[in-house]
Amino acid sequence: MTGSGNPPVGAGGSAQDARPSKGGSFHEMWRELYPIGRHPDSHGYRRYAWTGADLECRAWFKAQAEARGLVHEVDRNGNQWAWLGDPAAGDAVVTGSHLDSVPDGGAFDGPLGVVSSFAALDELRARGVEFTKPLAIVNFGDEEGARFGLACVGSRLTAGQLTVEGAHKLTDGDGISLPRAMEAAGYDPEAIGPDPERLSRIGAFVELHVEQGRALDLSGDSVGIASAIWPHGRWRFDFRGEANHAGTTRLVDRRDPMLSYAETVLAARREAELAGAVATFGKISVEPNGVNAIPSLVRGWLDSRAEDQASLDRVVTGIERAAREYAAAHGIDLDVVRESFTPVVEFDHALRDELARILGKDTDLKVPVLGTGAGHDAGILSGSIPTAMLFVRNPTGVSHSPAESATEDDCVAGVLALADVLEGLACA
Ligand SMILES: [Zn+2]
Repeated sequence: MTGSGNPPVGAGGSAQDARPSKGGSFHEMWRELYPIGRHPDSHGYRRYAWTGADLECRAWFKAQAEARGLVHEVDRNGNQWAWLGDPAAGDAVVTGSHLDSVPDGGAFDGPLGVVSSFAALDELRARGVEFTKPLAIVNFGDEEGARFGLACVGSRLTAGQLTVEGAHKLTDGDGISLPRAMEAAGYDPEAIGPDPERLSRIGAFVELHVEQGRALDLSGDSVGIASAIWPHGRWRFDFRGEANHAGTTRLVDRRDPMLSYAETVLAARREAELAGAVATFGKISVEPNGVNAIPSLVRGWLDSRAEDQASLDRVVTGIERAAREYAAAHGIDLDVVRESFTPVVEFDHALRDELARILGKDTDLKVPVLGTGAGHDAGILSGSIPTAMLFVRNPTGVSHSPAESATEDDCVAGVLALADVLEGLACA
C-alpha cells in the first residue's frame, strides 16, 4: 500500500499489504473486482449496464454491503444502496460512484469511488468513530451510457432529468430496450421514475473519482476537490460539395468539402488553445465514402468544453466563423446544428468549502480545487441535493482506456481523505 515494491493497484494488489490505518481492505476488494468484465485481449473493461459483467459487479457490491452489516437495497431505478443507520432519519451522508464502464475502459473510472467508499467506512470503524447521521454507499446504474447511448441513466431517472417515456425509448445496438434489459436481469422496469422522496433524505453526496486529466499531476497533489463540471456541447457540421471523379476532375473545378472540413479541424484546435478550452472533431461521416471519389458531403461532430459559458461561446463562434470562411472559399454549403448542450454544473459551494476545511485542518494543507470536463452522477444530482467530488491523481491523465491509472499511495490517500470527509460530515 505504500508503493514500496508492492504490485500496482491495477495488477490486483495484495491483501496482505492492506493495513487498517492506511486504506484497510482496499486491496482485497480491488483484487475481487479486477477480473470482472476485463477483456483478455484489450485488457480493457466491458461492464455494460445490465449485462453479465455488470450483474457480477452488482453481486459483488451486495456481498460487500452484507459483509459489513449494511442494509442492501435496490431503488426503483436499479441503483444499489448500502445503508448504515436508518435512511428515514434524513440528512444522510452518501458516498459512492458507479461500477459500469465505457467500451474497453480502465479499472479506475467508477470502481475507485465505490471501493474507496467501503474502504473509508472500514477506516472509520477502525477509528472507532460514532455516526450521528445515516450513511450510505451507492452504486449508480448505467453511468457511462455505453449500452443505451445516454450517460448517467440511474441518477438522471432518480433526479427526474430523464422521463420514464424517454427511458423506455432507449435501445442498445441489438435493439433491446432499457426496460427489457432490466427485466432480463431480474429487475422490475415498471417501477422506474423520479425518486424525490429518496433524494429528500440525503443531506450531502460526495463522489470520489479518478481524475480524468493531469491537473493534480501537474500540481503535485494526490487529492483534489471539484469546483465545477465545465459546460459542454456537441455540434454537427455538414459540409456539402459535389461528388466527382478523383482522377479526372481538375483541382480548380472541384467543390471538395473535405478541404473546408480539414481547415475547420485546425481552426478548432487554434480557437480552443486561445481560450484555454478543448475542442475535438472525433467523429466524421463521408459520402459517398469512396477512395476514388471526391466527397459530396463531409459531416463532422464537434465536442467542445470550456471553463465557463463565455469561453465556450467564444470557441464555438470562432470555429463556426472560420468554417464559413473556408466553406465559402471552396464553394461549399455549410450547416451547423447544435445537437446537445449541458450548462456549467457548479458544485455546492458550502459543501466544497467544508471539504477543503476538513482536509486542510490538521496539516494546513491546501487541497487544490479544480474544474473538470467530464460528466458525473454527482453533477446530475447537484441540481437536487448538495454534492461534492474528490479527485485522485491520475499520473498520465489517460481515462476511458485500459491505460488509466492511479498509484497505490494515491489510492490510499483518496481513501483516507474520503474517510476524513465522511467523519467530518456524518460524525459531527
Ligand atoms: Zn466515472
